[in-house]
Amino acid sequence: MSNFKWKRAVIKVGSSLVSPTGEGCSAEFLLPLAQFVSAAHKQGKEVIIVSSGSVAAGRRIVPVTHTPSIAEKQAMAAIGQTQMMANWQRFFDRPCAQILLTYADLKNRTRYVNIKRTLAALLKHGAIPIVNENDTVAVNELKVGDNDNLAAYTAIVSGADTLVICSDIDGLFTADPRKDKDASLIPKVTQIDQALFDLAGGAGSKVGTGGMKTKIEAAQKCMGSGIQALIVNGRTSSTFDALRDNECPGTLFVPEASDHSARRLWLTHTLDCQGKVFVDAGAKNALINTGASLLPSGVVGVEGQFEAGDAVNIFYKDDLIAKGLVLLDCQDLERVIGLQSKQMEATLGFSTSIEIVHRDDLVLLPKSDND
Ligand code: GLU
Repeated sequence: MSNFKWKRAVIKVGSSLVSPTGEGCSAEFLLPLAQFVSAAHKQGKEVIIVSSGSVAAGRRIVPVTHTPSIAEKQAMAAIGQTQMMANWQRFFDRPCAQILLTYADLKNRTRYVNIKRTLAALLKHGAIPIVNENDTVAVNELKVGDNDNLAAYTAIVSGADTLVICSDIDGLFTADPRKDKDASLIPKVTQIDQALFDLAGGAGSKVGTGGMKTKIEAAQKCMGSGIQALIVNGRTSSTFDALRDNECPGTLFVPEASDHSARRLWLTHTLDCQGKVFVDAGAKNALINTGASLLPSGVVGVEGQFEAGDAVNIFYKDDLIAKGLVLLDCQDLERVIGLQSKQMEATLGFSTSIEIVHRDDLVLLPKSDND
């Protein structure tokens, strides 16, 4: 078994665990998982759950003999979501917090930053965020479509170091273990290529949306962002004993690069910058040499039209030194140029974070990127 360490994990729980029969919610497989989460909390670790199962949970209340229409499925999700949340809450003394997301929310910068801040606040206050796709509003192009990929996005937006995908299969195999008796478990993956996707063909359960393909896609998103991903069998309680001992009983996907450099790639390459923020020498020094966030006191100028959550280029004079997600829109930022953080609220008339660009959302650009 491969060893791994973690501090903040997203645990994805598939429908086949929440609703093993495909109808209603069950505690059967969730108890060992919840005990694992509670034990992790005691060690100061943080957990976000991405839970499927709303459609399956609501199916009993909207019994249809035909293939359900989209509206019927959405009705099942609306009913099942509350039941699924109530089912989760029974396992924990901490409050469970419902977060319903769509792909459209994750693509929108302002919403993205709001999701990030809300998750951080929930974790800070000891709650367990429980994320699902907002099935009642999302159709096709607005949807992530499967909770494996949704869990990967959740890991990225929450700054998690680990994604654990709890499935009803032990991990990734060299062939489909249901058809090939020589199939063996792959304990560690360091690179994802087409051959690996080919291995995934067909292996999946009937209850959830995702098969092994979406799990590998999720692992790929994580690896590219410096996050390790695990596929484990959530149906066997020994899985959680192993995880408690920091051992991966399934397949461990190891990120290509260190957290920082992978995140840097993600921020550097994924986001188009909407504007420019100019900083003074003190702020430049703090960003480059002390790993600080950008505060309003270090800002000397703003250029371009941008919303809170957009990416901006950060300049010292003519030098492009960094890029990051800005927490205020351009008009508000103009108004707080040069202020101390504690003066911002009085000037803006609403409370905001003390940073203009938080360190977690900022990448320094090496000299060569400046030329
Ligand atoms: N969001 C769906 C549900 O809760 C599940 C999607 C999936 O399992 O991938 O029923």
